[in-house]
Amino acid sequence: MRTPYVGGNWKMNLSRAGAVSLAQSVAHAVAGLAPGPRTPEVAVFPSFVHLDAVVNALCAAGSTRVRLGAQDCYHEPDGAFTGEVSVAMLKDLGATCALTGHSERRHVLLEPDSLINVKTRALLDAGMTAVLCVGETLAQREDGATDAINEQQLRAGLAGVTGAQASSLVIAYEPVWAIGTGKTATPEDAQRAHLRIRSVLVDLFGEALGASVRVIYGGSVKASNAPELIAQPDIDGFLVGGASLKAEEFGAICAAAGT
Ligand code: PEP
Repeated sequence: MRTPYVGGNWKMNLSRAGAVSLAQSVAHAVAGLAPGPRTPEVAVFPSFVHLDAVVNALCAAGSTRVRLGAQDCYHEPDGAFTGEVSVAMLKDLGATCALTGHSERRHVLLEPDSLINVKTRALLDAGMTAVLCVGETLAQREDGATDAINEQQLRAGLAGVTGAQASSLVIAYEPVWAIGTGKTATPEDAQRAHLRIRSVLVDLFGEALGASVRVIYGGSVKASNAPELIAQPDIDGFLVGGASLKAEEFGAICAAAGT
């Protein structure tokens, strides 16, 4: 059985005080989740500049259950890379995971698969969890290319990743047309895409390891649609954007993921 995973992607939002306050509220909400075999692993992904304040707020709230994540990283260990943040710097701050290949980085900041791949590998090499995001645009969906795009992004993003690293991997299927739009894939469509993603993971890592990787869904997830999505056998949790900025809503999504 795969432990559900829920990530809150705060994107480029919140003041320092707002991030601290949200971290405290999320810690409180997650502490209230009933413990059990399906209690989700929860992570928050604040802006780089708020990581330090958020980790302190989580510690002060006595939270051992909310992990700290970054929204991006750079793969080089150090050097002349103005504006970038290395994996070691993130680790030093207490981050244990980071997103790679988020659709806003692919489509707004034009990150290619080759860069996403080296970032993913740098995280895994450092023993961190990499949450690799894949997903099709609306035009690609209308062309019937959803599975081909997911497969291409997975194979390129995971090139050189070893089976031993698969346990530190989470895949987020996030159809681009569903992110921040209020439109969600139907549970059946999401399940179909997750099943195909799972088959690529099995092809890459073998039956047992491929079956152990969490594949989570993202795209306008809310407390109201989370239960029907998590009821699908291959949806192992959520990556949440807008709704993760409201602690109560995010807590309800985490609770749904654990059912
Ligand atoms: C995201 O940013 O990964 C995301 C899924 O955003 P939203 O939940 O707002 O669609």
